[in-house]
Amino acid sequence: MPGFSFDVVSRDGRARAGLLRTPHGEVETPAFMPVGTAGAVKAILHRDLREMGARIILANTYHLMLRPGDGLVARLGGLHGFTGWDAPFLTDSGGYQVFSLAALRRLDEEGVRFQSHIDGTPHLLSPERSMEIQQNLGADVVMAFDECPPGDAPREAVAEATYRTTRWARRSRAAHRREDQWLFGIVQGGVHLDLRETSARDLVEIGFPGYAIGGLSVGEPREGRKRVLAHLDPLLPEDKPRYLMGVGTPEDLIDSVARGVDMFDCVLPTRNARNGQLFTSRGRLAIRNARFKEDPRPPDPACACPTCRTVSRAYLRHLHLANEMGAATLMSVHNLFSYLDMMRAMRQSIRLCRFAEWRRDTLRRLADGPDGP
Ligand SMILES: [Zn+2]
Repeated sequence: MPGFSFDVVSRDGRARAGLLRTPHGEVETPAFMPVGTAGAVKAILHRDLREMGARIILANTYHLMLRPGDGLVARLGGLHGFTGWDAPFLTDSGGYQVFSLAALRRLDEEGVRFQSHIDGTPHLLSPERSMEIQQNLGADVVMAFDECPPGDAPREAVAEATYRTTRWARRSRAAHRREDQWLFGIVQGGVHLDLRETSARDLVEIGFPGYAIGGLSVGEPREGRKRVLAHLDPLLPEDKPRYLMGVGTPEDLIDSVARGVDMFDCVLPTRNARNGQLFTSRGRLAIRNARFKEDPRPPDPACACPTCRTVSRAYLRHLHLANEMGAATLMSVHNLFSYLDMMRAMRQSIRLCRFAEWRRDTLRRLADGPDGP
């Protein structure tokens, strides 16, 4: 497909460093994609995202189809033209959100009928409709429509969702027309290795330029996730990007890269920032804690982000407790910078074949706590 390619440029153990090329620019992998639910990363300007080195952002099909509507976005130049973010976009299929947010869902083979959580209007999301919406939104990477069962769903329900996801993947591929988009398939199967294996084999047989791993941030135990990733690693094509959806903490990202994952998205850095939780190089810090009341140190003395270069823990705590909007921005800037900076360090360590060492040191430091060992 013109304008697209993916190359693994270095390997260290099962970890890979690669380069994803899209019509709107290149993305070095392993990559973290900030979540811009409604076409914007909450509390952050595109300018700040560019400065901190974000190269690709995710937008949510479910939210944008309901408001402002995919037709309006298409008329105003697609996501790139409408939002002014001229680097790559990825949109999800809408599947995950329709199962987690929408009221009065009814699922059948055609798709999911539901009522908008905003105004109660009736809608249908199906493989064909998801492709239509995602083609209107115009992201560089789009996702096949999938069914994502909850983490505690019984095996039979997960099996049914897995087989349906494969049938929907086939319909998604048939309905997808745009040549300037890459359509990824989504592997489902919960924590059941045999279902994961069937799902991966079926999707690889259909053939996609990239594969996402869905249904692994829905409350399953962390050990189950690690087993699934290790099991899928040899089943997914070596030369295609692998995207782990909705995961996770810094530790989760490191462990998943060690099992061959290339791309991630997660709301944690931005959502937790708005709740006053900072991800530092020495673990998490809750800014509302009384011990930071007169703490003149930056949130993370080892961080070079604009927030850590200019404000103290005491000032951030004050802004957060006073409900100042700037608190959310300053802390979101730090958390995203901290995630993106960790990805940079991780890529570097893979290129230098020092990933195992870097991983051990980083995980040890994350366990220290923000005030040091
Ligand atoms: Zn910082």
